[in-house]
Amino acid sequence: MATIKAALIPGDGIGPEVTSLTLKVLEAAEVPLEFEVFELGEPAIKKYNEPAPEELLNELKKYNVMLKGPLTTPIGTGYRSVNVVLRKVFDTYAVVRPARSLPVSWLYHDVPRYSNIDLVLVREATEEFYAGIEHDIVAEGERIAAESIGVVTRKNSERIIRFAFEYAKKNKRKKVTVVTKANVLKLTGGLFLEVYRDVAKDYPEIEKEEMLVDNMAMQLVLRPKDYDVIVTTNLMGDILSDLISGLIGGLGVAPSSNIGDKYAIFEPVHGSAPKYTNQWKVNPTAQILTATSMLRFLGLNEKAELIEKAVFKTLNEKKALTYDMVRILKNAGFSDIKESSNREFTEEVIKNIKQII
Ligand code: NAD
Repeated sequence: MATIKAALIPGDGIGPEVTSLTLKVLEAAEVPLEFEVFELGEPAIKKYNEPAPEELLNELKKYNVMLKGPLTTPIGTGYRSVNVVLRKVFDTYAVVRPARSLPVSWLYHDVPRYSNIDLVLVREATEEFYAGIEHDIVAEGERIAAESIGVVTRKNSERIIRFAFEYAKKNKRKKVTVVTKANVLKLTGGLFLEVYRDVAKDYPEIEKEEMLVDNMAMQLVLRPKDYDVIVTTNLMGDILSDLISGLIGGLGVAPSSNIGDKYAIFEPVHGSAPKYTNQWKVNPTAQILTATSMLRFLGLNEKAELIEKAVFKTLNEKKALTYDMVRILKNAGFSDIKESSNREFTEEVIKNIKQII
């Protein structure tokens, strides 16, 4: 098999940990991938005084496919989110976040309605309230107000909504639900909804549905199986994607991808969880499953299947589970499960890969 070249952005916080464990898994599965490493985020701030220096971004353009760990964005003030910058620079306008119940039955012991969920959230990633148009209003040296401008364009709404319908068609999905807050955000939400109604006419075979985001949040918790493909704007999608991760076991197991016409960036839903940095405690499953989404994108389906089988076997065996999984088991009444490090978990995954091979 010819070697495929890709970029690796380990990220910061827990990023370098979960990406290094993922590389071990890829190696054990003999995946024909060669990575060039790009240290954006905190390491770049130390070296270049800037989290996403132009020269690294230009170098990154050599690679159409990137595997990425999480990157920290300081809250309130400071640098602009590198995640937002990357999605803009590489125009990866579609964040695709599947929430599929993992084949690990104990995960749903407490809430059986969360088994057999299979929905996909498609989130627009370049505009609305993440367009980065924000400013303070200052009077007599005091910040008296702040304004954020949410930009929704017809062109970008059309491409994400069409992406969602095409995704549904290709993956034999039945319904595309659009989520807005068009009752209050009458213009931005209203335009997105108007474009959805127009684009939907081209897909008569696919069921349509319109939801307001607040109701959607409740319905997803109560009746997650009623949903199939969901398409929404940037901020709404960011919030709902953590919610749907919660339905399937939490951020420790939720993969994601950012797809554009030229580039694709694969990263987990979770962030850099700075309080756990260097503790080798957090679950690498989300990052590993993110890598398997990338393998499928590259047509390496057998390798993806092998790794997924080994991960699910390891989770089912319960021999070495990270703290988040142990917490779920304890809530479900299994009190005798001890917590393992993510290195121990990864060793079990690797053992299982070798056994399956
Ligand atoms: P977070 O996702 O980093 O963590 C939230 C909580 O989820 C953590 O406290 C932890 O308990 C849990 N968690 C996250 N990843 C886990 C894992 N792999 N295993 C087990 N538990 C896990 O969100 P946050 O604390 O709000 O954000 C921290 C930083 O990450 C912020 O700077 C934020 O901007 C950034 N962030 C980056 C990305 C990205 O790189 N795409 C995404 C979200 C947040």
